[in-house]
Amino acid sequence: MRTWIKNPAATWTGTELSAPNGVVFEDQTIIELVEGEPQSDYESVHEASNCVLLPGLINCHHHFYQTLTRALPLALNKELFDWLTALYPVWANLSEEAIKASTRAALSELLLSGCTTSSDHHYVFPSTCDNAVDIQAQVAREVGVRTILTRGSMSLGRSSGGLPPDEVVQDSDTILKESERLIDKLHDPKVGSMLQIALAPCSPFSVTAELMRDSARLAREKGVLLHTHLAETKDENDFCLEKFGKRPIDYLEDVEWLRDDVWLAHGIHFTSEEISRLGNAKISVSHCPSSNMILASGICPVNELLSAGCSVGLGVDGSASNDGSNLMQEVRQTFLMQRLKYGSANFSHEDALRLATQGGARLLHRKDIGQIRPGLQADLALFNLDELRFSGAGDPVAALVLCGAHRADAVIVNGDWRVRGGELVDIDIEEVMFQQRQAAKTLTS
Ligand code: ZN
Repeated sequence: MRTWIKNPAATWTGTELSAPNGVVFEDQTIIELVEGEPQSDYESVHEASNCVLLPGLINCHHHFYQTLTRALPLALNKELFDWLTALYPVWANLSEEAIKASTRAALSELLLSGCTTSSDHHYVFPSTCDNAVDIQAQVAREVGVRTILTRGSMSLGRSSGGLPPDEVVQDSDTILKESERLIDKLHDPKVGSMLQIALAPCSPFSVTAELMRDSARLAREKGVLLHTHLAETKDENDFCLEKFGKRPIDYLEDVEWLRDDVWLAHGIHFTSEEISRLGNAKISVSHCPSSNMILASGICPVNELLSAGCSVGLGVDGSASNDGSNLMQEVRQTFLMQRLKYGSANFSHEDALRLATQGGARLLHRKDIGQIRPGLQADLALFNLDELRFSGAGDPVAALVLCGAHRADAVIVNGDWRVRGGELVDIDIEEVMFQQRQAAKTLTS
């Protein structure tokens, strides 16, 4: 089945404005950028006038389950460590129903914002939901979003000098055995993969050095990526100095993580010498601007990281520190925050969009997504400019970022229409919200 996305107001491919008359995709693959009339035959046409066509956006850091604790009174107005300490006991009561509801809610919200690929970092495994990642995989298949689910872990409880309470940590043997089981069961390394697994010990303050090292060795043996939180706050740097006698980057090197198969969430508090080392190692960083502003953590040095040779993508982060899952809004937050840091000549709307598309693809080591190009997967997002917020706008692509686009008109993942006319296809949003409200109420009451 070939479909022509016809005559959008603009097509931004991930690198440039191109294809003034749209694109043709066949099944799961983009086959033509159209100038004039399509060269390929097509069976259906989607009229896209008034819409801007973008590559589907890529979310590089999230904790789906945290959508259950957004704007929770007991966690408001805190910085990272106090915020986590307030929330750990609540998360300790997660159930399988809660994982199901929150994964569906987060993925639905992401889809509606133009996101076609999302990673998730799940690191809380109370005995009531050992199968959290299996459940997430099932829901991701139903919702139809491309996912990279990371098997997170916490092994350093409070009694051993870590931050989380002992009841939410697991022993290393269980973690490694489960990690291996999930890779063997769910990881699909092929081009066009809809589901991949990565390993993600949570952070230096919640995991032992041995588990960091063993996770890295297992990931390399199995050919999957590694992910963790790093250098998010000054407190974390102080923790590393006190507990390990070194700063986070030296710690990473020690535990065999200073390699190109690693992506870090946040990556804020680095010296320029450390940024060079990260660049030399070709490490990737997921910038999470809303979370960093809400928790007052600091500003990620995006331009320095890119110049050093790192890949940088965007993440909405958990919806208890954002508190939303809207990736298009995160593009605008990135634009505003980085422009404030670097000046108006040194960070453009296209720079922000690039991080959310090909930056994310590079971070996830994916050559099949992140741009609109023949041969790549048909992951596409259309934003309709026929809204009051855009009326009178000049440059259509700049308008998305500057005027605050937040809801996609149509979203195609792997050739499937998942959003049409601004509504989810095949998903009852009222039911998603009902289940989510029930699960949140049970968890937090
Ligand atoms: Zn996070």
